Parts: sequence; structure tokens; C-alpha cells
Amino acid sequence: MRIAQISKVFMPLAGSALLLVAASQQARADKFQNCVQSLWPAAKAGGVTRATFDRAFKGVTHDSEVIEQATYQPEYVRPIGEYIDRAVSDKRLETGKQMLADNKELLDKLEARYGVDRHVLVAIWGMESNYGTQPGDKNVIRSLATLICSGTKSKFARPQLVSALKILQRGDISLEAMNGSWAGAMGHTQFIPTTYSAYAVDYDGDGKRDIWGNVPDALASTGSYLKVSKWQTGAAWGYEVKLPKGFNPKKVSEKTLRSLAQWQKAGIVRVDGEAYPRPADKAALFAPEGANGPAFLTLNNFRSLLRYNQANSYALAVGHLSDRLKGGGRFVQPWPTDENHLSLDQRKELQQLLIAQGLMEGEPDGVIGPLTLEAVKTYQRSKGLPVDGFPTFTILKSLRTGS
Ligand code: CA
Repeated sequence: MRIAQISKVFMPLAGSALLLVAASQQARADKFQNCVQSLWPAAKAGGVTRATFDRAFKGVTHDSEVIEQATYQPEYVRPIGEYIDRAVSDKRLETGKQMLADNKELLDKLEARYGVDRHVLVAIWGMESNYGTQPGDKNVIRSLATLICSGTKSKFARPQLVSALKILQRGDISLEAMNGSWAGAMGHTQFIPTTYSAYAVDYDGDGKRDIWGNVPDALASTGSYLKVSKWQTGAAWGYEVKLPKGFNPKKVSEKTLRSLAQWQKAGIVRVDGEAYPRPADKAALFAPEGANGPAFLTLNNFRSLLRYNQANSYALAVGHLSDRLKGGGRFVQPWPTDENHLSLDQRKELQQLLIAQGLMEGEPDGVIGPLTLEAVKTYQRSKGLPVDGFPTFTILKSLRTGS
């Protein structure tokens, strides 16, 4: 058959297929609109006016990127050591020192008002939005509506959406500028709407609590939030410690609180050999890699940081970054290298090989999302390996040799 004949035969089919695609897209859009309208009673009960509601949802569509990002599983990707190394990179440290200098007067005042160490405020700023340079560019109303209507983290997103609509209604920010992460974490501080509503501060007194565009408002909001999270002025977040020989930290719950003096009696001392300045303070033992990696005694302020983000790895990154900004050194004990955790380059190579074998599509980016996990599972199945989707070095080696 010549090309002209092929087109003649297939054109009508292609046309009806297109119609089908268009119809299913329309059906999806209708379904999303119906879902959005079903959110009105909860918004109304929360004090949102119909005018605000209609303005917020005018022309809003489902955002598939939000779902992709929401289902990304970082626990498959980053062992804590790599997470800390990235979070406390040389670049972030250098920029943080510049920020300390550039904002000295403001930080003097914020320390006096909230009692939170400037290095901690700046460390959180660096962790949350890379000092305001990566605040997220997704419209918060759209992201939250997408989460609710797709049933992904819907329980989290429902109260956040009502809170976001109230923020819009009060006029702190315009709809167009109300951007954030896929989860609706907003601005320099990455406050989710309920946290914003409860704790954000209008520090410069212009009537708006502007955590998106105003550094004084943003840093004051962080100070205010830590203060209500029972931050202890002048106290440390914790210390890197040395464990006695043969001590197995995995046998101690991360929730067990003992005084620093009691821990010391058990032979757990600071790596620098210094005494604990406040021996009566209660501390927990945190040794995420067991006896093979750095171990820490974490104090009250570490638990305040967990109010900001409940991951221990996050609080440790903030604590360590703040220490480094103050001039402190790296951890004394190195993180263990685990042959079954892949580096960024190795993850890209793994994806490249999966793509080459036709097991997935796209560009290798080193981010292990649902597509990579599925591809690894398919590969494991084809080789008769246990199917868990976990991208290990063993899998990479097998892909390399084609065995
Ligand atoms: Ca303001």
C-alpha cells in the first residue's frame, strides 16, 4: 500500500479516536468541576463567601504534576546521610552566611522578640525555600483541589483548602501570587495554610502577612512559630555523641527521654569531649544508622523543630546547618556507605538502562518515582528476583551486565 492509500484507510479511524479522546478529556474536566462544586458547603461553613469561592475556582483544572509529586517516594531514594549532605551543602552554607550578613539588623530584632537563634531562623529559611529562591510555583488553590478531587492526601488537603480560601478572602495575597509546593506549602517559610492562618506575622506592619515576598514577615513568622512550639532561648538542639564500645543504639527507643547527666552516666558523651552545659535537660538518643553512623542526643529544641516538619532527618538537617552557619564543623563520625543505596549518578544510570531495555520512558533524572519503581519491578519479575521495586546496587549491576 502506498502512503496515500494508508491515510485513506486510517483517516476516519483517527478522526473517531480523536473524538473519543476529546470526549474523555471533557468527561474528566466535568468530573473535576463537579468535585469542586461539592467543596462549597465545607467552605461556606468555614466562613468563605460565595464570591471568594467563585473567584478562586474560576477556570481551575486538575494539575497532574501535583499527583506525580505527591506520589514520589523519597524513602526509596535517600538514606539519611545523603539527605543531610544535600541539605547542608557548601553552597547552602555559603549563601546562608551571606544572608546572615545581609539581614543582620532584622535578625538582631527577631532574636530579641522571639528568642530564637538567628542561625536557626536562617537554616530553616535555607531548608524550606533555599532562601526564598525555590518557594514553589504551583497555585495553592489548584494544588489542594487536585489532591482532594483525586483522593490523594485528601484528608490533609480538605482543611488546608478552606484555610487557603480564607487567606485569599482576607487579601493577604492575590490569587495569582498565591503559590507554593504541590502540598500547598507557601512562600519563604513553606507554611501550609492552617499554619499560616495560626502563626504568620505581619512584621513590617503594612497590614499583610506576606511570607511570599517580604523577608521580614517571613522570618518573623518562622520565629513566631518556633516560639509557640516552646523553643528554649539559648539552648542547643542537641549534640553529636560518642557511644560506648558494644553499645547498640537500636535497643533504645527514639522516644526515651533521660537527662543528659543520665546519658553521660551510661557513657554517652559529646564527640568533642566538652561537658553538657545543661545536664538536667531531657534528651533522646537518635542514631538513624545504628552503631555504624553518627549518633545524637536531641533536646527540647529538636522537638520544636519537629513541629515545623515532623521528620527527624529534617530537624537534624536544620540543627546541623545552624551549627555550621555558626562556624561548627562536620559530624565527627561519617555516615556509613551502604552498597544497596544508589548515588544520584547511579540512579540516573539505572534509569538510562531501564529506558534502553524498553522498560520505561522519559529522561533519566535520578528521581525514583512511580515509573522507575514499576520498571524495576518489571525487571525483577523478568529475572525471577524478589519483586519489591527497590532500586539497589544489585539491580544496577545486573542491568549493566545484562545478566
Ligand atoms: Ca507585612
